[in-house]
Amino acid sequence: MRAAVLRAGEIVVRDDVPEPVPAAGEVLVQVRACGVCGSDLHFARHGASMVALGEEMEGAGAIGTGAGVDLGRDVFMGHEFSAEVLEAGPGTAAPAPGTIVTSIPTLLTPTGIREIVYSNDVACGYGERMVLSVPLLVTVPDGLDPGHAALTEPMAVGIHAVNRGGIEPGEGALVLGCGPVGLAVVAALRARGIDTIVASDYSPARRQLALAMGAHEAVDPAREPAFDAWRGTAGEEQVVVFEVVGVPGVIDSIFRAAPRGARIVVVGVCMERDTVTPLFASAKELSLRYVFGYDLNEFAASLDAIAQGTIDVAPLITGRVDLDGVPGAFDALSHPDRHGKILVTP
Ligand SMILES: [Zn+2]
Repeated sequence: MRAAVLRAGEIVVRDDVPEPVPAAGEVLVQVRACGVCGSDLHFARHGASMVALGEEMEGAGAIGTGAGVDLGRDVFMGHEFSAEVLEAGPGTAAPAPGTIVTSIPTLLTPTGIREIVYSNDVACGYGERMVLSVPLLVTVPDGLDPGHAALTEPMAVGIHAVNRGGIEPGEGALVLGCGPVGLAVVAALRARGIDTIVASDYSPARRQLALAMGAHEAVDPAREPAFDAWRGTAGEEQVVVFEVVGVPGVIDSIFRAAPRGARIVVVGVCMERDTVTPLFASAKELSLRYVFGYDLNEFAASLDAIAQGTIDVAPLITGRVDLDGVPGAFDALSHPDRHGKILVTP
């Protein structure tokens, strides 16, 4: 079958990938849509350091870091997918062929959990077909665009960040960074009924998308510091700050500018060492929480929100390509002003 793979830092489209074969407990599916994720772009460029950090990390499964991946071999990628059931593995009860499903990007196997994020041998979403674990399948409601359903995964990241941030009605949110993850946070805040959502990004296109996804105000930090804009809008309202930039220096700048007692939720994933001035956080009793991924309930809640329209993902989708368009999509997404999400329809 055909699949786009990462080979020596480049995206290459292959037509000689072995057909995936569903084992017991699995289904073979036809990929209907797969979102191109910013972390895939990062992995294509900085895979070696991600794999090394994933392998260095102790105390948790390093899902999504590429730990254990051999970059000397082709790497399958694509973890934001919806797919159509083709056939079940031997002796497996599964949704009927033709059913549209999605799943967290994880495969349950007799020898342990394997990720459907970066893999040398598990086919992922940038390919025609893949296998999924039946217990993890979530059925996409009839009539929902499979392209919209493919955004269940990235929207779940936003829902998780908002849940873990513990934001309550009556509190406001400042979202720093409006890439796809920041936009997912904005959408989840709006779905939660938060009254004041201020978003900040240097890119005009991303500020437009933030407004479309539910921000009440989108500011250009080059013209007005985000916390000044926040104070102008929300006054003394309690703020939860969502850091969705993920580069060194951002957390320290939040420590410096945040109001006393602010809670900070770090959603952006920074792969480099970073420094902060703890005095700022101590003196203002700031709270800091790091979040990552989502759980199964949040994943299902994300699909529900998309299906019911409490989260409208349509404005996010700014391009659709076939497999041959994947290398170009990776190039296009490296210019933050051109795109929100590009969907691959193999
Ligand atoms: Zn992703």
